[in-house]
Amino acid sequence: MRLDVITLFPEFVNSLADYGIGGRALADGLLTLHTWNPRDYAHNRHRNVDARVYGGGPGMVMQIEPLKHTLDAVRAQRGADAAPVIYLSPQGERFTQDTAQTLAQGAGAVLLCGRYEGVDERLLRNDVDMELSVGDYVLSGGELPAMLVVDALTRLIPGALGGAESAEQDSFSHGLLEQPQYTRPEQHEYGRVPPVLLSGDHAAIERWRLKQALGRTWLRRPDLLDGITLDAAQQRLLQEFIEEQQPGSDPI
Ligand code: SAM
Repeated sequence: MRLDVITLFPEFVNSLADYGIGGRALADGLLTLHTWNPRDYAHNRHRNVDARVYGGGPGMVMQIEPLKHTLDAVRAQRGADAAPVIYLSPQGERFTQDTAQTLAQGAGAVLLCGRYEGVDERLLRNDVDMELSVGDYVLSGGELPAMLVVDALTRLIPGALGGAESAEQDSFSHGLLEQPQYTRPEQHEYGRVPPVLLSGDHAAIERWRLKQALGRTWLRRPDLLDGITLDAAQQRLLQEFIEEQQPGSDPI
């Protein structure tokens, strides 16, 4: 997968190469990450990329021309391997696992990071295919949101994760939150591992996991359950979970 990031802070975004799964995917060639600095495409004496907002008021806005030239360069290099141009913006559609899955099936993405008060609206209207928000809060720049998108997409590249199944079992991939996880030791002053996980009975473990995933979603993100249809077995498991919820029982 190829991802291009347009940013005034390429070193920040390139630091993804130094860590974890993203770093490994880049080293293994599963992911190629290209960063583009609009300053390199600003044809003015001071390589300015921003100017004062029309209409008065505080703040600067990123100008059309440097971004347009940068996008032209990205498109020229990508050639036939065209990808959607995505502006990271608090005003965009919420970035979800579904969006990540859709994007991961395509040719990658060109991620445009805003700074200052944002980007001239005319550039957005003409050159941007989609705006994505990472949440209802305002950050200082689009770099962290772009890095979230890069990370979420990287996890979905076949072979990027050690265990092939991990991404499929993650929260949201089936519309549910993931079940709780435990590791050694079995016994600890904070509690013991649920016995079924030590039983070796794979069917019972799968049943327990599904029940916990349903229950945890019901407790923490009931809105997610509105978006999926549970079959009869899943409904029974969720009902069992709900009935087991006694005051004073272990919170999950
Ligand atoms: N004035 C803009 C507004 O109110 O919509 C906010 C500009 S913000 C200070 C600067 C840049 O950070 C934006 O252009 C965008 O690229 C990025 N950004 C900030 N919050 C974001 C969010 N929640 N999701 C995605 N990008 C965000």
